[in-house]
Amino acid sequence: MSGIFGAVSKNNCMEDFFYIGDYHSHLGSAFAGIATCGKKMTRKIHDIRNSQFKSKLHDDFRSLKSKQGIGAISFEEQPIYVKSKFGDFCLVVNGWINNWKELTKELFSKGYSFSEVSEGRVNIPELLSKLIVQKDSMLEGIEYAFSKIKGSASFLILNREGIYAVRDKLGISSLIIGKKNNTWAVVTETSAFPNLGFKIVKYLLPGEVILIGRNGLRQKHKGGKNLKICAFQWIYTGFPTSSYEGINVEIVRERCGQFLAKDDPLQPDLICGVPDSGIAHALGYSMQKRIPYRRPLVKYTPGYGRSYLPSCQHTRELIARMKLIPIKEIINKKRIVLCEDSIVRGTQLKSFTVQKLWDNNAKEVHLRVACPPLMFPCRFNFSTRSINELAARRAIKALERKEPLNVDKYLDEKSSQYKRMVSWIMKDIGATSLKYQRLDNMVKAIGLPKDKLCLYCWSGKL
Ligand code: SF4
Repeated sequence: MSGIFGAVSKNNCMEDFFYIGDYHSHLGSAFAGIATCGKKMTRKIHDIRNSQFKSKLHDDFRSLKSKQGIGAISFEEQPIYVKSKFGDFCLVVNGWINNWKELTKELFSKGYSFSEVSEGRVNIPELLSKLIVQKDSMLEGIEYAFSKIKGSASFLILNREGIYAVRDKLGISSLIIGKKNNTWAVVTETSAFPNLGFKIVKYLLPGEVILIGRNGLRQKHKGGKNLKICAFQWIYTGFPTSSYEGINVEIVRERCGQFLAKDDPLQPDLICGVPDSGIAHALGYSMQKRIPYRRPLVKYTPGYGRSYLPSCQHTRELIARMKLIPIKEIINKKRIVLCEDSIVRGTQLKSFTVQKLWDNNAKEVHLRVACPPLMFPCRFNFSTRSINELAARRAIKALERKEPLNVDKYLDEKSSQYKRMVSWIMKDIGATSLKYQRLDNMVKAIGLPKDKLCLYCWSGKL
């Protein structure tokens, strides 16, 4: 999962550019990088595993004066800086190229080498740039890359003309253009816009290419209708104030909570959400039931960010244990509905959330989950989960005493297998009851037609 962003202006726009980047901080765990284009190209990349975008890049921005720049917050080092036959350019990517091994071999056979290698894998932005430079112009190169890539890659290219904003062919991730006076901005997350005074002017279509120059926008490649946008952005990864395809994240989460409540005969004493992304789901549940939303667990360490992003298990667990502080006076003897966006492994939910409610004398803890059981790892690297660590897969393996080749019967909410799987997870986590959202209700809560969404996490189908 990454966030990419850029700005182009008739004037120095580095202050806006800096804060636009900072508003993507929740999307990355490892690296933050920027490139600007003035008299010369400048590139800065920082490791942000132990600090934040703001503190790492603040001094860089103070020394920069430029009318255009691109950046990324991501799991790998970017932007990549390329000298090519059609001029210097820098490139950032949000996404994943599934056939990177085949493409790498193909490029080796043509005599290409790669320099930005990490743990034996080529850098995805470098691979993409090597595809682009095989053609005679930027646009031909982009179109060629589209034809070769299997997966999802939205990207930004900065050169003397401005920024080429390119949304991936399936539209799995978003790119949105905003405008303020003489400045254009392009973002993954529209959260960057309101406080900086930008208004949304365009959601790029799948496969669309727009050149953002100082004098405005030029469409370089028409977009298609084949949209398969990631549904998980609305459920978990997106920031509440962001919108994708014009649909706000917080509103979708409230609707998810309302759907959960409509199907649920429970009348608890209070409703709460696992901070942060479970909160809006819980608010929706509370609004529907007209039962108070309260905070029996309060998050103290906002600076830690997402707990599932650190690659080291020990660090993940330490963060999870430290960040939620219980309030015994609220929990004591209460029947509690706890809403969560999703269950990935379930281990943190069990040990550091549900258990804290029991330790403080909760009477009942009913777990309600805003999406169906996660059954498949992301095909596009939007999250780090692997198949074996998913709670649903662990349940199936325990019930069947082997890993079945086909899990279709566990996807059907009405099947006995689904019910046994949910019951196993409930017991494993230690909840009084557990209910997941139905897939059709999650789709209704998002509000796009089912065939416009990537639901692979839950269905295993694209
Ligand atoms: S597989 Fe899941 S996380 Fe990945 S793009 Fe599709 S819906 Fe999003």
